[in-house]
Amino acid sequence: MPEYRAPTRDVRFVVNELFGLEEYGHLPGFDMATPDMVDAIVEEAGRFCSDIIAPLNQVGDREGCTLHPDGSVTTPTGFKDAYRQYCESGWGTLGLPAEFGGQGMPHVLHAVFEEFLSAACHAFMMYPGLTHGSVSAIMSHGSDELKATWLPRLVSGEWLGTMALTEPHCGTDLGLLRTRAEPLADGSYAITGEKIFHSGGEQDLTGNIVHLVLARTPEAPAGTRGISLFVVPKFLLDADGSPAERNGVRCGSIEHKMGIHGNATCVSNFEGAKGWLVGEENKGLAAMFVMMNAARLSVGAQGLGQAENAMQNAARYACERQQGRAMGQRQDAGAAADPLIVHPDVRRLLMDARAFTEGMRALLLWGSLQVDLAHKAESAEEREAADALISFLTPVIKGFGSDRGFQTTVDMQQILGGHGYIAEYGMDQFVRDARVAMIYEGANGVQALDLAGRKLVRDGGAVAKRFFALISNECAAAGKELGFIADPLGKAVHHGEAAAEALLANGAQDPDALGAGSYAFMELAGTLALGLMWLRMARTAADKLAAGEGDPAFYEAKLVTARFYAEQRLPLATAYRHRAKAGAEAMMAIPAAVLAGEA
Ligand SMILES: Cc1cc2nc3c(=O)[nH]c(=O)nc-3n(C[C@H](O)[C@H](O)[C@H](O)COP(=O)(O)OP(=O)(O)OC[C@H]3O[C@@H](n4cnc5c(N)ncnc54)[C@H](O)[C@@H]3O)c2cc1C
Repeated sequence: MPEYRAPTRDVRFVVNELFGLEEYGHLPGFDMATPDMVDAIVEEAGRFCSDIIAPLNQVGDREGCTLHPDGSVTTPTGFKDAYRQYCESGWGTLGLPAEFGGQGMPHVLHAVFEEFLSAACHAFMMYPGLTHGSVSAIMSHGSDELKATWLPRLVSGEWLGTMALTEPHCGTDLGLLRTRAEPLADGSYAITGEKIFHSGGEQDLTGNIVHLVLARTPEAPAGTRGISLFVVPKFLLDADGSPAERNGVRCGSIEHKMGIHGNATCVSNFEGAKGWLVGEENKGLAAMFVMMNAARLSVGAQGLGQAENAMQNAARYACERQQGRAMGQRQDAGAAADPLIVHPDVRRLLMDARAFTEGMRALLLWGSLQVDLAHKAESAEEREAADALISFLTPVIKGFGSDRGFQTTVDMQQILGGHGYIAEYGMDQFVRDARVAMIYEGANGVQALDLAGRKLVRDGGAVAKRFFALISNECAAAGKELGFIADPLGKAVHHGEAAAEALLANGAQDPDALGAGSYAFMELAGTLALGLMWLRMARTAADKLAAGEGDPAFYEAKLVTARFYAEQRLPLATAYRHRAKAGAEAMMAIPAAVLAGEA
């Protein structure tokens, strides 16, 4: 059975040593995040996720959720009790606003917790996972009345939030959605329609569920300009604000799916359910994007978490399982065989996983710090710069993080050979669970389009240029001892600049050329972003070693992993650049009927 230990030492390195979170102590909420407090929170979060949540992972996979004839859903054994402990310990409130009962800590710490929780049990994480985004959407677009009614109990975790966008005929293209919202005399709306793939649409963890639903009012224009957002609770509230009458929304069925069996993916039927408008009519997509952007960072955390858990188990296995003889020095001349970990090809997989997980963790947390700074930095200029940066990085964190997260679970499964393929060792579950992160919250192809087609194009490449210049400058400023990564990264970033220019130029001639190169550009941006993280981590590690501070083995491992990243991952930048600028001709030339085998 797989075992998970939250990587608390590495998180403390990133938050306290790499970012120096205390330097932001003058900003609201950061004053509480002293290094001691960060250490205490990270260690306790690690214990909670490793000891309480991780043992539920296989139970959830085996049992799945049960739908009852009355439309109620039972979650797997242990989920309810674990959720009670989650609320009692206040984990859900960590980064939420103090004015509604949250702890008001930096978002960075919430992101740390999300990685641990996803790694421990992805299916469990998804129940509370969308509540943060629901709170943000209502906070930023809801009326005072909506905030007062729904936020305190969403923040406390007494109720959970969901998002209901997808319909049978409408996934990526939300402009097609048909769910109707008819105005009622009391100012509320009657919501009618069918939503599918509705995560946590029904569950037995909380006394009420607060759905954020996209729907169209009667006179709404067609397409995305006619979509509004509504709060639709499972139970309507009585005069005291307690859940009372059942609202007109029911779970019709739950999906049988490849992974995350412990999470109920529902078909939800809204039959004249009472709902309240969030923000302005026809501006629902903007409000929903507040939730979706938060959720996309969470999905990056899911990719990372799955990869980390799979890596821990594969590394342990590689140390124990004896097969073959080392090509170089044998570990134990008397033994019949050496452990797998002596083989360079097994090391290749493990080092790649290590370079991804540690680099991705730094990127996720750096991105989360930008979320904090976008709201809390002192000057408008700093807030705008942080907002632009995280807007550019969000599709990278989601798309690249979940792609590489999934690939890492497959690589770690490979280390167990045939034992990785059979259920007993649990490696198959990492692969099955991680796969969905590439699909939901906007499939990764759509993330790439968001990056290249929107974020790059909308300002003529200005934010991308600033990001690449930041990397170039840090490479140029790096001392000689960091040349092993600064030099190749400095060269690789030119490929980023060239790819961005080519996409902008080609895209102006032919929109398909932009679409054709967007995925490679996302991979290139992710590769460079992790390169920047590795340069920074190498610098911090070298400084610590020079100062004789802390555990040298930890910092030496950072330097070696940075070298591995420079040797094995940065060379890919050349290929991504060529793919990004190749254009669409060969991609689009063959008629659809030929591809479908019909002609
Ligand atoms: C387990 C699970 C849980 C989910 N939870 C939720 C939830 O809680 N709430 C919710 O509302 N939805 C949820 N979803 C739905 C999910 O967000 C959608 O499945 C996803 O956005 C893709 O939509 P689709 O499945 O309709 O695929 P489609 O939109 O049909 O897309 C299929 C493929 O075509 C590509 N594609 C589509 N359009 C374009 C384009 N214009 N350019 C380039 N490529 C394109 C996509 O990248 C994708 O690879 C969930 C899905 C799953 C599987």
